[in-house]
Amino acid sequence: PDVIPVHSHLLTVNSPAEMGELGHSLARLLRPGDLVMLTGELGAGKTTLTRGLGAGLGVRGAVTSPTFVIARVHPSLGDGPPLVHVDAYRLGGGLDEMEDLDLDVSLPESVIVVEWGDGKVEELSEDRLHVVIDRATGDTDDDVRTVRLDGIGQRWAGGELAALGT
Ligand code: ADP
Ligand code: MG
Repeated sequence: PDVIPVHSHLLTVNSPAEMGELGHSLARLLRPGDLVMLTGELGAGKTTLTRGLGAGLGVRGAVTSPTFVIARVHPSLGDGPPLVHVDAYRLGGGLDEMEDLDLDVSLPESVIVVEWGDGKVEELSEDRLHVVIDRATGDTDDDVRTVRLDGIGQRWAGGELAALGT
């Protein structure tokens, strides 16, 4: 049987600003067609990371929590890929519904970032990057987060994730 490689990288983020910088750095690694799935409880920092990522990609429009829409498309201000920011929370069935959204953008030509997508959007891409954000302590006032990056598939086999956060 084929074994899908997973390349993991663990890092610590100490502030919202650092989370934004991580997103910015991550954007430099991303290419059209990449799927990034963000996991973490409410307030973990998923949208903060996506905001930095959008800044790094150089896209138009404020990256906010997409809670009241399922997906928001941010076109590139330059010649880079658009960012498709998805809140899959209310996406019941997964991919079919995602295709029904009529996003007016080609997903293979976009960078897709999905919050709350676990178990719903994996089939979008065999190769994908899971970002798992946890509070480092039980104290909800604490700004420290642990971030685990799991690069799944050959796409992430080059070791590029290891350079993040250093
Ligand atoms: P999520 O999208 O996971 O629900 P948000 O990014 O919308 O989370 O909100 C995270 C909140 O936590 C923000 O108010 C942010 O200022 C705060 N915060 C505190 N420390 C951090 C950190 N290290 N990284 C990201 N956000 C942080
Ligand atoms: Mg959010």
